[in-house]
Amino acid sequence: MNRPPPSSPERSDLMRRVRRRGTAPETLVAGMLRALGLAYRLDVAGLPGRPDFANRRRRWALFVNGCFWHHHTGCRAATIPKANRAFWTEKLAANRRRDAKAIRALRAAGFRVVLVWECETRRPEVLRARLACLLGDRRGRPVPEPEPAQGP
Ligand SMILES: [Zn+2]
Repeated sequence: MNRPPPSSPERSDLMRRVRRRGTAPETLVAGMLRALGLAYRLDVAGLPGRPDFANRRRRWALFVNGCFWHHHTGCRAATIPKANRAFWTEKLAANRRRDAKAIRALRAAGFRVVLVWECETRRPEVLRARLACLLGDRRGRPVPEPEPAQGP
């Protein structure tokens, strides 16, 4: 892999943070899913795109996306570094293509796919309501789950 050096200490810190599993946004989402009574598996390698959270039986998969790495459309954090601009443009576009492919494959397999963007975790009350709406039942109540949650 021919990776250019980070353009700044700040960027280097960002790269470290977003490439690790169990980041603050993921921990927050895990807590919300548990509070909704939703069972999940973490970092599900057997599904397209390796979702951060999924429940195969309930047919949902959730990705917690860093706004930089997954190039969140319209988001302030979705910048392209000035240094090595061509590399980053292609790299981030490739990430987007890979994400889109995984989402298509999951949907084709009957999964509800939920994307949580890192910037959404700054408004947890809004995010919590969205997750309840997307993954709860029609009346907005959590779906009862016989499987034990596998949390951190
Ligand atoms: Zn964002």
